[in-house]
Amino acid sequence: MLRPEIAARSGYDAQHPAARIILDANESPYDLTPDIKDRVFSRLKQIPFNRYPEANSRALRGLAAEHLGVDEDYIVTGNGSDELINYLISACIDPGDRVVFPEPSFSMYRILAETHHAEVITEPLGENWELTDDLIKASRKASLVFLGYPNNPTGNCFDREKINELRSETDGLVIIDEAYSEFSGHSFVDEVSAGEPLVVLRTLSKAFGLAGIRTGFLIAPPQIVEGISTVKLPYNLNRLSQVTAEEALKNKETILKNVDIIIEQRNKLFDFLEEQGLKPYPTEANFVLFRPSCADGFYHQLLESGIRVRSFSAPRLENCLRVNVGTPAENQTLIEAIKEINS
Ligand code: PMP
Repeated sequence: MLRPEIAARSGYDAQHPAARIILDANESPYDLTPDIKDRVFSRLKQIPFNRYPEANSRALRGLAAEHLGVDEDYIVTGNGSDELINYLISACIDPGDRVVFPEPSFSMYRILAETHHAEVITEPLGENWELTDDLIKASRKASLVFLGYPNNPTGNCFDREKINELRSETDGLVIIDEAYSEFSGHSFVDEVSAGEPLVVLRTLSKAFGLAGIRTGFLIAPPQIVEGISTVKLPYNLNRLSQVTAEEALKNKETILKNVDIIIEQRNKLFDFLEEQGLKPYPTEANFVLFRPSCADGFYHQLLESGIRVRSFSAPRLENCLRVNVGTPAENQTLIEAIKEINS
């Protein structure tokens, strides 16, 4: 009964081998502090689980608006930014419309675009993972263009001028996916609030350490927000997620202190990988893509040491591994394991 192209797919959630240190999903190594968790738990005790949640996450939207410096009517909340990517495609794509993004980039753009019968057009990034003129050309007749900023899995932020050139040339809607923006310090949110026809995606899964709570934000001019709201499932964000995300935003000063530690550890890891001749690519995210001479062997040796990183089979990523930054202790264990492999 399945559509043939759906039946032919394997699910996103392939079985991951067990490991002691998990560095393959770009998560934060830091859970919420016991203090903040206690605030969440005491609020949860008061909440009637038999009642549907607030359909538009009103309180959370208010806090997100304050955090991002935009009006509340510029925000849609999602069950992770994955869900918001799906909504964008549902709201904007007729079968055969073009969805354009560079290769390599985040895998869900293709999966969700193909699910909605879009014509997927990709163009390879340049030698140093930069946006190319071919991508700009391909974007001209696009309905949607997705750009990671920083891009996953390469870790770099594309040149802003080049992004603006693409924006001025395309007929379509450009989506700047800022899942890792807290680590880069760069953002396009100000341009959205200034009225530009642009969409920015944010998530609490990375810098805020809430991957398990599944909360993301779409920031766009109100007309686009209204359009997305018509395809949004009414209770997409459950009460547990709303309350946890609210408490996280209320305590953001405490939580975002982790960003400085992660950046420091990322820079240390980058320098180490470079010293070891493992060819890391410059990164502004919480992960590093690197190219050992035999990625497959390297991946399995790390796994034997109890460390799971991410391997790839896509073109341009052969022989690449991606590792996200863990705690300083995890980072040290990783460094020792790599020294051992390379000795
Ligand atoms: N965008 C990018 C670029 C990502 O790397 C990820 C997660 N890996 C997401 C979006 C999805 O994040 P979430 O659904 O957890 O908000």
